[in-house]
Amino acid sequence: MRKFDYDLFVIGAGSGGVRAARVAAGYGARVGVCESSRVGGTCVIRGCVPKKLFSYAAHFAEEFEDAAGYGWEVGETSFSWARLIANKDREIDRLNRVYLALLSDADVKLYPVHGKLLDSHQVQLGEDIVSAEKILIATGGRPWTPEISGIEHGITSDEAFYLKTLPERVIVVGGGFIACEFAGIFNGLGSGVVQVYRGEQILRGFDHDVRDTLAGEMTEKGIDIRLYTNVTELIRTTGGQITAKLDDGSELQADTVMFATGRVPNVQNLGLRAAGVHAMPGGMIPVDEYSRTNLPSVFAVGDVTSRVNLTPVALMEGHAFADSEFGGNPRPADHDFIPSAVFSHPPVATVGVTEKDAATHYGEVEIYKSEFTPMKHTLSGRREKTMMKLIVQASSDKVVGLHVVGLDAPEIVQGFAVAVKSGLTKQQFDCTTGIHPTAAEELVTMRTPTQG
Ligand code: NDP
Repeated sequence: MRKFDYDLFVIGAGSGGVRAARVAAGYGARVGVCESSRVGGTCVIRGCVPKKLFSYAAHFAEEFEDAAGYGWEVGETSFSWARLIANKDREIDRLNRVYLALLSDADVKLYPVHGKLLDSHQVQLGEDIVSAEKILIATGGRPWTPEISGIEHGITSDEAFYLKTLPERVIVVGGGFIACEFAGIFNGLGSGVVQVYRGEQILRGFDHDVRDTLAGEMTEKGIDIRLYTNVTELIRTTGGQITAKLDDGSELQADTVMFATGRVPNVQNLGLRAAGVHAMPGGMIPVDEYSRTNLPSVFAVGDVTSRVNLTPVALMEGHAFADSEFGGNPRPADHDFIPSAVFSHPPVATVGVTEKDAATHYGEVEIYKSEFTPMKHTLSGRREKTMMKLIVQASSDKVVGLHVVGLDAPEIVQGFAVAVKSGLTKQQFDCTTGIHPTAAEELVTMRTPTQG
């Protein structure tokens, strides 16, 4: 007679939870998982995937314009928001089915209900209680909005994916990943966009050249970025529109006000306190490099933890957890040199340190920087620049930071991230032959430091 119903029970079937469940089951573990929303998690259902589809949709407007310089006569174009939403929904339904199949093919039992910890080995699932030798919390996060008067008139990215119509005028609040991405999406699709950010420049935490370049390009595309500004109140007018009061005393009118002001972990009604799982004041669950909480039988991965909130990171953490606990291959989650991208217009991608942080971590550095018009825009006539930057540790010659703003930046940096993660030197970059003509070849042909 087995002591527990399951070897592993996972709370939350998003990227991290599903990966951990499948890998553990592949090692022969008896695995159950519960999910109160749709299987697939934020990334698939209301995050990365639909966002990127929207971003593609928004890029077409510029593609049609750019075509003229190449001899094309595109003629009159029109855009159907309803069709985009319907097609996006169909794709999300397909991916949801793929995720469901992944679980059933791996013999992971799915409970489509909310799960709540009762103690360190038991989870309440509606009327049922299941027990497990190990429990993994992978409940992810959700948007957070500031408590201002009239906040109920605003939306978050969750609702932006289901708007009935494309708003004519949008205010996007925030300067982070989601705010920059949605400002680009709405602007590309034809909405008038004001982006309101409280700080000195959007994308805090990114390299200063990335921030300045992106802000300049977004402004060039028509996005009205208001820095050092906060929305203090929202008022719904009789015509159904929204008046947003700003702390500089001015007001803006909009059809939609979207808050992209950060995310918080999903820990409500999770039973953490009753089970004795420590959580930080914002709800984040602190874990060690093996994703262990303070309880030996309870683990956590993904956005619910106090680490980096990115889908591939949750996947990596979930996989490392399953290898460690069920595969006889203990290995810590590896958070060094995580590349990331902002699917803004133009996109940003980065791996390694910023110039500002470089001195703290690597001492003296050399900076290589290049700004140029991508070849595509020689004939299109579009005034959009690409910016590339390398940060090299002087003592070792290693490339410790690589930043790109411009066409195809995420595709370019994914490849170069292998080199940076592997600790390759600037000299090794230099002796790599470029692919001509590409923008990416610039990263292996920059010879003269701009400073350092
Ligand atoms: P971010 O943390 O990136 O940005 C939040 C923004 O909201 C910041 O500009 C922040 O300002 C601002 N903000 C916070 N509190 C307030 C407030 N009270 N009033 C006004 N502004 C405020 O969060 P996001 O919501 O954009 O995204 C959450 C996370 O999801 C990201 O950090 C990222 O890890 C992940 N993500 C990744 C994507 C990708 O890989 N492409 C895409 C989308 C999300 P300040 O800078 O001053 O703190």
